[in-house]
Amino acid sequence: MGIKVAKFGGSSLADAGQFRRVKEILLLDSERKFVVPSAPGRRFKEDDKVTDLLYKCFRLAQAGENIDECFGLIKGRYEEIIRDLGLSLDLTDRLMEAKEKIVKDNNPDYAASRGEYFNGIILAEYMGWDFIDSAEFIKFDKKGRFASEWTNEILSEELKKHEHAVIPGFYGSWPDGSVKTFSRGGSDVTGAIVSRAAGAEIYENWTDVDGFMMADPRIVENPRSIKSLTYRELRELSYMGASVLHEDAIFPVRKAGIPTNIRNTNNPTAKGTMIMLNPEDCESTGTITGIAGHKNFTLLSIEKAMMNSELGFGRRVLQVLEEFGVSFEHLPTGIDTMCVIIADSDIEKYHDQIIQRIKETCEPDSIELTSGIALIATVGHGMCRKRGTASRLFRALAVADVNVRMIDQGSSELNIIVGVDGEEFEKAVSAIYYEFA
Ligand code: ASP
Repeated sequence: MGIKVAKFGGSSLADAGQFRRVKEILLLDSERKFVVPSAPGRRFKEDDKVTDLLYKCFRLAQAGENIDECFGLIKGRYEEIIRDLGLSLDLTDRLMEAKEKIVKDNNPDYAASRGEYFNGIILAEYMGWDFIDSAEFIKFDKKGRFASEWTNEILSEELKKHEHAVIPGFYGSWPDGSVKTFSRGGSDVTGAIVSRAAGAEIYENWTDVDGFMMADPRIVENPRSIKSLTYRELRELSYMGASVLHEDAIFPVRKAGIPTNIRNTNNPTAKGTMIMLNPEDCESTGTITGIAGHKNFTLLSIEKAMMNSELGFGRRVLQVLEEFGVSFEHLPTGIDTMCVIIADSDIEKYHDQIIQRIKETCEPDSIELTSGIALIATVGHGMCRKRGTASRLFRALAVADVNVRMIDQGSSELNIIVGVDGEEFEKAVSAIYYEFA
């Protein structure tokens, strides 16, 4: 029998009603042996996330202010869940101990981690499952980098000892045992790490949406959902702004060849989105899988006659960027032209200096900077096999009267990236979506 690891996000565990849904889901499939909870999220739009309250407590404590009121809100959230679930668990002493440590220790990660820690204890009690403290088995090295192999070794040994267990998300520890968290949203990463260590056949990531959408629903009304995609496609889409899963949650499961299934706690019969290793395993949908993008890029266009035969030209341009600590996103080139795409926020401070330096070191015929460009990636494994994809995409943009400022087809043939003026971003995404959906 296979093992499934289920991670539940903050909104899936925000109150007792949501805990009940989670229990039902877990008991419905006996292969769901390990569960990774987030901290309680928002119950309604204006509500606080417990993690945000914990960071706030830490900041207040650092400023020498009293945290009674702020910590009281957190304590109240947990006590309400315990009471509404009818549990006899008493967390008073452990909550007081945590409060003292938040004030005394100079460690924001410890403060933040308590959200998942206490939610994990409650979930373990409610399920009658074992509780495993992630600080003991999820390890970071001395430089604060996640120690994947060390973790995998000790965590897989530990998991073998438990029939069922709750492993709180978001945190682990430094080699000396003090708590360290992943970046925000990091419970997704813990879920992936536990899946790898358990040798799971599937990593279920339960959230509050039905899965990935082909395009941003704030731009396209009711976009189609994506039934399945590969980890590579997901990486391209997330890099360009589509966010459902933490970026780092891909690596442990991808490495172990474990598929991830994004599911909706509030609509558990929906199959969600499957993320697979190989394109052959994906349910074939249309030519493209999804569209993502974001605004605020700068286009640095350089022209010089005979650039193609001038040895070292590209290197010198990039070296200037390196001197200013600026990294680039894309680099489409022509025979005598070179375009460098850079995030506005990276380059805005150095506009004039960079232009000056490139003029000195490369002596171009012309150099121009245009900011406020939006990049749109149209992603799909299907594209490389289908003739006419690019022509459909550009025709759709032309019909919508969108001016294309830059084109880059990734070397993997997995995506076509276009740069358009920021104001035309939404129009361009809609045009591409309706052409292919
Ligand atoms: N509770 C943490 C956060 O809000 C981690 C998570 O929910 O994944 O960022």
